[in-house]
Amino acid sequence: MTDKTDLRNLTQDEIIRYVESLGQPAFRGRQIMSWLYRPGITQFSEMTDLAKEFRQILSDNARISRFTDPVLECSSDGCVKFGFTLDDGRIIESVLIPEPDRNTLCVSSQVGCAMGCSFCLTATMGFIRNLIPSEIVGQVCAADEFLRSQPEGERIGPERVTNVVVMGMGEPLNNLDNLLKALSILTEQRGLDLTNRRITVSTCGIVPKMRHLGENSDANLAISLHATNDATRSRLMPINDRYPLDMLLAACRDFPMPKRKRIMFEYILFKGINDSDACARELAKKLREIPCKINLIPYNESPGLPYESTPMPRILAFQKILMDANYSVFIRSSRGSDISAACGQLANKEADCQRLPT
Ligand code: SF4
Repeated sequence: MTDKTDLRNLTQDEIIRYVESLGQPAFRGRQIMSWLYRPGITQFSEMTDLAKEFRQILSDNARISRFTDPVLECSSDGCVKFGFTLDDGRIIESVLIPEPDRNTLCVSSQVGCAMGCSFCLTATMGFIRNLIPSEIVGQVCAADEFLRSQPEGERIGPERVTNVVVMGMGEPLNNLDNLLKALSILTEQRGLDLTNRRITVSTCGIVPKMRHLGENSDANLAISLHATNDATRSRLMPINDRYPLDMLLAACRDFPMPKRKRIMFEYILFKGINDSDACARELAKKLREIPCKINLIPYNESPGLPYESTPMPRILAFQKILMDANYSVFIRSSRGSDISAACGQLANKEADCQRLPT
């Protein structure tokens, strides 16, 4: 731990204010921002267009945080789960899902989670703390470093993370201020220069925070829905007692977004609980008039949790009912399940890990 200001924890505007507090003009802040996220830059001494004296002042007062010793597990399907140790010794996880034309990184927003969803391993940790912006952005930087370190012939997708989904450990809207700063760094041209089109924030339905997210970010919104009535949803997701389905869907209708954008509804199918034809018809009815797409997610069974996965023929029948009702419906392939990296499986399980060369 150090008292130095971590510049990777600051948005560009905050860096500008920081350099001004050191008696420097605003443009120096923009220069620093463009260095901070350049591949391989770890020291102020490498920022060669800054005066030597100023670089020394920065070294004396500030630092550039970086996850240096991640552990990783590689899935047979190419997914990579990263375990990052934070300054206070806590561990968070992210999952890289490579495809030929994209690399999607599922990032965490909290250590643990307070939401208590009954199908989720992260919930078993309880809530420990919020991540700060550098800890959210640092997951992307470390995944970029990993991708760059892979020999070209061994890489499935591009050389960097192209898509970010905030669907890892934690409920992002319970850490909204830090999340918004992280999104600003991820999308800033001098930062990681990702487009909002390729960033998705997923919530279990923290209704009062949804509008604030929509008004302050152009990232895509995903809703973990998983049920079509309050009794089932409350059983799966206790947050539903506070913000029941009708309230959540009203907030979705009210969510500020450009015309061509769609909300993504995530629906994990649990055998015998929410996967009947009647549920599919009810879902089609409930989502009417909300511009949306639907992701059907086969449940990944986890030891100790009381749910079973729905067989594929049932998932296909469920999908057909929704498609016949004119929805765009995707069945999300369940990747990374052999390393506990699939949806709902992140919980700091110590496993056979391999150190990432740094
Ligand atoms: S599913 Fe998401 S919101 Fe629910 S307990 Fe798990 S991490 Fe938290």
